[in-house]
Amino acid sequence: MTDKYRTVLLFGAPGAGKGTQGKMLGSIPGFHHFSTGDMFRNLDPHSQIGQTFLGYSTKGELVPDELTVELWRKNIEAQHTLGLFRPHHDMLVLDGIPRSAHQTSLMDEHIRVLGIIVLEAADPQQMLTRLRRRAQREGRPDDGKESVIRRRLEVYAAETQPVLDCYPKELVHRIDAIGSPARVLERVLDILAPIQESSFPNALA
Ligand code: ADP
Repeated sequence: MTDKYRTVLLFGAPGAGKGTQGKMLGSIPGFHHFSTGDMFRNLDPHSQIGQTFLGYSTKGELVPDELTVELWRKNIEAQHTLGLFRPHHDMLVLDGIPRSAHQTSLMDEHIRVLGIIVLEAADPQQMLTRLRRRAQREGRPDDGKESVIRRRLEVYAAETQPVLDCYPKELVHRIDAIGSPARVLERVLDILAPIQESSFPNALA
């Protein structure tokens, strides 16, 4: 590969609406959304790699770094070949990867990170309320327990910080995730539109 993919990383605390924002971003011309959660879940469960994934995910474990990055690389290159991702026009929005400092270094030769979006509630209490409501709605009462929610938030923070530490602080944009999806998207685009305009000056009509 000659050029590195021009990329923004999307992070979100549990309940911050990362999935929704990722999908919305992916529908905007000039953005290509790639979620490793979707990538893994779409694997054929009867295939070798699908079985390997299930072996880890059913135990609540992450897939090993080399395997994850290799699978990501093959997928994104295939999307490129098929014309679904056009790196000369599209900014890549990575969701769920890199998820460790090691993944970050493995991906270094493939991506140039132009910005990092971190979705978080400015008021953590509101996040707790949102997660509790979601657990109720989805009929998963355990997920609504304060101790379970706190634990998930801690795991998220412990996992995310080492990745953020790999990049210059100026790249990291913390965005308040409380508000309607449209309002949060507005905040995200306030950051990303200027980055897109300066990084793809010729691609935009
Ligand atoms: P969760 O937030 O529940 O981990 P995701 O949708 O991000 O959900 O990922 C689902 C599963 O896919 C994870 O539990 C993990 O096994 C695997 N996975 C996703 N992204 C990565 C990654 N970057 N590295 C390793 N495993 C990953």
